[in-house]
Amino acid sequence: MGEVGGGALRSFTLPLVPSHRGRGNLFMEISRKKTRQITLGTVKIGGGAPVAVQSMCNTDTRDPKATLDQIRKLGQAGCEIVRLAVPDEDAARAIGTIRQGTKLPLVADIHFDYRLALEAVDQGVDGLRINPGNIGGKNKVAEVVQACKDRGIPIRIGVNAGSLEKHLLEKYGHPTPEAIVESAFGHIRILEDLNFTDTKVSLKASDVLTTVAAYRLFSEKSDYPLHIGISEAGTLFSGTIKSSVGLGILLAEGIGDTMRVSLTADPVEEVHVAYEILKSIKVRQRGVNIISCPTCGRTEINIIGLAQEVEKRLAGVKDPITVAVMGCVVNGPGEAREADVGIAGGKGVGLLFKHGEILKKFDEKELADVLVKEVEKIVKERTQKSEVRSQKSEVSM
Ligand code: SF4
Repeated sequence: MGEVGGGALRSFTLPLVPSHRGRGNLFMEISRKKTRQITLGTVKIGGGAPVAVQSMCNTDTRDPKATLDQIRKLGQAGCEIVRLAVPDEDAARAIGTIRQGTKLPLVADIHFDYRLALEAVDQGVDGLRINPGNIGGKNKVAEVVQACKDRGIPIRIGVNAGSLEKHLLEKYGHPTPEAIVESAFGHIRILEDLNFTDTKVSLKASDVLTTVAAYRLFSEKSDYPLHIGISEAGTLFSGTIKSSVGLGILLAEGIGDTMRVSLTADPVEEVHVAYEILKSIKVRQRGVNIISCPTCGRTEINIIGLAQEVEKRLAGVKDPITVAVMGCVVNGPGEAREADVGIAGGKGVGLLFKHGEILKKFDEKELADVLVKEVEKIVKERTQKSEVRSQKSEVSM
């Protein structure tokens, strides 16, 4: 506390300033930019739909069993769209089997070869990630676009600072936000000339400020829905921080319709981090929100171990539930009362709170089990209530 607006803040201006910044009160609610809507399988993207969470399999797409196994884990974590690398014919053909094994929308990621795009479309993919400027000549792009039109599937134009066209690098010197945005509009023009607008766009760089500036610039000029992400963000630790800062800025300004957190880690972690980012600024609510104190000289129980154990054991909960794990009676009871359920520690013990009421004192070694049990009870109560509500509405129809 006491850091907001403190003397450590320096005057700092990002290269580009969004025109719609400040429409909403950042501290109360986020006003999302209205983009046009596209549909990817069963998921709506843009036009006010919830920000969809994506990840990308790192299995060999030619191995449907391993890929489906990973897709299942991603789905359990809350992933809503899965991207698959399609490096060759065999991978493109394997999409058919993968398609039959999952209901999650699948996007085929294709570079350089339009035939792989045609095969992936034939095999039932729900979307393509291609850059029309690099999959072949105009006729070849037209063939791919026609196949997408016939099947009603969208295309993501995925511009990456690391693979910008030569003429743009010569014009701008290096991958500036302006160069990235110009590249995107070049690809968009190719599709629009073929009367194709079922498109979303990404403008990624590994540099956070370049990425933010590119998305802001694009967002001022266009209402195509945006897939946001920081490219090659790094490991679980550093990539989480870079993605949280970059995507947090964009989401807080209302920019972003679907997102991927790119991590050098298990893709399931990408999904966990994505939801933590979305939850932290209340763009979406899913799963347990842990409030835990940093511990200090007053802590008399193992709060670090308890918070980690509770977080791990409750990772599969989908309902939005706030759980407080607090070390003492200074801030503990206050936070614990505001949460759905929580504990405030004492000397080898913890007071259990639920919906603002003190329930009971427990021994330290019982606390993890007690919190998990209380969360499970809340989930059950909510499920029963919603079943009763839906039975009532059926009767009144
Ligand atoms: Fe210290 Fe208590 Fe605050 Fe935890 S809640 S950091 S134990 S004062």
